Amino acid sequence: KPRLFSGMQPSAESLHLGNYIGALLSWKALQETHDAFFFLADMHAITVPQDPVALRENTRRTAAQYIAAGIDPSKSTLFVQSQVPAHAQLAWVLNTLTGFGEASRMTQFKDKAAKQGADSASVGLFTYPILQAGDILLYQAAEVPVGEDQRQHIELTRDLATRFNSRFGETFRIPEPYILKETAKIFDLQNPQSKMSKSSESPAGIVWLLDDAKTTAKKIMRAVTDADGQIIFDRDAKPGVANLLTIFSVLGEIPIATLEADFAGRGYGDLKKALVDVVEASLGPVRARTLELLADPTELDRILAANADRANEVASATLADVYDKVGFLPRS
Ligand code: ATP
Ligand code: MG
Repeated sequence: KPRLFSGMQPSAESLHLGNYIGALLSWKALQETHDAFFFLADMHAITVPQDPVALRENTRRTAAQYIAAGIDPSKSTLFVQSQVPAHAQLAWVLNTLTGFGEASRMTQFKDKAAKQGADSASVGLFTYPILQAGDILLYQAAEVPVGEDQRQHIELTRDLATRFNSRFGETFRIPEPYILKETAKIFDLQNPQSKMSKSSESPAGIVWLLDDAKTTAKKIMRAVTDADGQIIFDRDAKPGVANLLTIFSVLGEIPIATLEADFAGRGYGDLKKALVDVVEASLGPVRARTLELLADPTELDRILAANADRANEVASATLADVYDKVGFLPRS
């Protein structure tokens, strides 16, 4: 099976419907055909200030949501980044191979630093893509499923791997990005021109996986549409309706054309009411299972530790090879 690597930051209490549709659902399918590694990027999360108590809790909560959404920790390797020391160790070596100018061209840093104010952005935020390159290369991953926004970081990963291989000899597999389909992109319910995002301030526009059924229903019923009244998929002219149709289509497993036909001549209220049921049928069980898993944190921590052991076996072998190739003296 081809090796696959992906993950996300445990930077919020709950994942949202965009993460669920855009990442978790495809990961769940991919774990059947791949030797999959999924991680919780807590070391990436601290590149912006985090409250320690919240970070620990959010890491557990995010892990629980992965499992509840169908990532099976006995099929896939599901682990916490900081529990595998090779991530920090490889990042250091890769830091020394990255040009300052090369790192300066990363647009995500520019965006995030601008948000924080350039003077308060950390060096960690600046070297974030290099840590990320190490994450991927440690596992010799063939495929890396990411959103379009991560394409530049995967290019950097490929460049660094190629550079290391040509300087020190064949060590890393060059990973291929596996860009997730545009159709799986979910937009903010209140502002359907922007994507649904953990870090945006849009309380009514984000459907959190852990919102209760009533709150979720309210958000869907109040989703922004348009004055035209027709249930047609047109991303440019009717972004709100298109977003509702996308969510309906993915979760209900019904083609968009079928939905358009079914809802022809009916109102947005009908579409929303039906969508509330479809969303609850998907998210209800995920929410319930997450709460069950969180009720026994000792067991959850045990699963994560066992998975970290598995990740560590692969990662430490790659790191040992790297240390040897760069000329570090082995500890006898
Ligand atoms: P942030 O605002 O901190 O960037 P985010 O909500 O964009 O948070 P990420 O942690 O960046 O979430 O992404 C986690 C995964 O979820 C990635 O695979 C990303 O492509 C996917 N994802 C995030 N938002 C959406 C969305 N609105 N639609 C589809 N997929 C999404
Ligand atoms: Mg993002």
